[in-house]
Amino acid sequence: ASIVIAVDGTSGSGKSSTSRGVADRLGMRYLDTGAMYRAMSWWMLSNGVDVHDTDAVAAAAGKPVITSGTDPLGPTIALDGADVSVEIRSDKVNGAVSPVATVPEVRARLVSLQQEEIARALAAGTGIVVEGRDIGTAVWPQAAVKLYVTADPAARAARRAAEEGGTDADAVRVSLESRDKIDSTKGGAAVPEGATHLDTTPYTLEEVIAQVIEIVQT
Ligand code: C5P
Repeated sequence: ASIVIAVDGTSGSGKSSTSRGVADRLGMRYLDTGAMYRAMSWWMLSNGVDVHDTDAVAAAAGKPVITSGTDPLGPTIALDGADVSVEIRSDKVNGAVSPVATVPEVRARLVSLQQEEIARALAAGTGIVVEGRDIGTAVWPQAAVKLYVTADPAARAARRAAEEGGTDADAVRVSLESRDKIDSTKGGAAVPEGATHLDTTPYTLEEVIAQVIEIVQT
């Protein structure tokens, strides 16, 4: 379907796997906007910009060239032409991304890149599943389908710890909660009006994907 599916929610809620599964099943493109904020943050860290210096981050926000590959089976993210898929998942980036994402110049730049990517997918007739924190509110409020995905904190931390290859779930939980707090108070995270709320805690990935496909098809 050549539509936009906006998937917002917290990290570790299962929203990435769900978004990719839905896009794959429906033959749609997939855009991970969190990866773009992460790439921006990695650029700041690698170029000596103090991520807590709002003015410095704002001044640099236009510099990195960020390119997203939107195949749901193998999404990619490149910075100035070099793949940074691994670097953006580091602890350093986990700690830097929320402060960087609160800077208005960063948000304005990335939101407009995201809107261009969405427009390309619509023009190509494929449609796109877009995952983030502010997709249904700021990036594409006119999305045909809006979802808000959550899960219990313990379930989120366990999932993220497993994804990160067996890191300590308690430490992951502390890091997730600290990011949530910044995202929902100073960042762009919000619950979109009219969004369907999915709590994934008791469901398998396949069950959640099936629920979303049912929502899309009704
Ligand atoms: O989804 P993920 O955990 O990779 O997102 C990393 C961070 O990027 C979030 O904690 C948030 O600070 C920021 N972000 C954002 N807006 C989005 C997507 C991510 O501010 N649309």
